[in-house]
Amino acid sequence: MKEYRIIDLSLPIINGGGFARPAKMRYLDHRNRGGALAERLGIDPSEINYRANAMEEFSFLHTHAGTHFDAPYHSLETSQGKPTLTVDQIPLEWCFGPGIWLDLSHKKPGTDITAEDIERELKKIAYTISPEDIVLIKTGAADYYGRESCDNINAGMTREATLWLADKGVRLVGIDACCWDRPPKLQMDSLTKHQRRGRYMEGHRAAAERGMCILEWITNLDALPHYGFTVYAFPVKIERAGGSWVRAVAMVEEKQQFSVKSGL
Ligand SMILES: [Zn+2]
Repeated sequence: MKEYRIIDLSLPIINGGGFARPAKMRYLDHRNRGGALAERLGIDPSEINYRANAMEEFSFLHTHAGTHFDAPYHSLETSQGKPTLTVDQIPLEWCFGPGIWLDLSHKKPGTDITAEDIERELKKIAYTISPEDIVLIKTGAADYYGRESCDNINAGMTREATLWLADKGVRLVGIDACCWDRPPKLQMDSLTKHQRRGRYMEGHRAAAERGMCILEWITNLDALPHYGFTVYAFPVKIERAGGSWVRAVAMVEEKQQFSVKSGL
């Protein structure tokens, strides 16, 4: 019998936090939901046993809050003359598969992760990418998740690094940061600089051109071996959306046990 260890690759969706687009959650607990029900019925709240009322939550939630999935449609309306896929159209077969992770946490925030960086890290772990591998990038930004400006502290994948992975047959990638590219704010700051004009969200666009999907704000990569695990990351099915929340996990095979039945 095979034994597996599950590693949670997901960060929680939190109320507020230092994000560019923080989630707004309204928690109606058992007591205040009982009060709301009494108000609706026109009776005194004391007439309602609040403990018997189910609590619930309302949220105003960006589809890219917390650990989430970017479908190609997020970045491009069409590619090669065809409409790109929205998140509800992503084939489920694309959402799980053999995973590998690469440590790019030595790259400074706001800098480029290049194809050479990827090749160097692959050499360090003596791994050759196969088609359909799920490639996850560690920048270290997830350690600051929820803190002020945590959206602005990752190194980002360039167009050529993204295309390098696409050329190997990779169709799902991930990063432990808010953005596959350099942080949006830093990109905007450098839009006026001649050498970076036309490069806004170049990694996202390159992925979308090739039909690749992206996981953002994943975590816990350190808890995994660099390869030899399976990633599962199924996006919530939101009609016509470019992105949606995902519970991403990795499963690592621990050991193989052989049960021997006694014939006596
Ligand atoms: Zn996103």
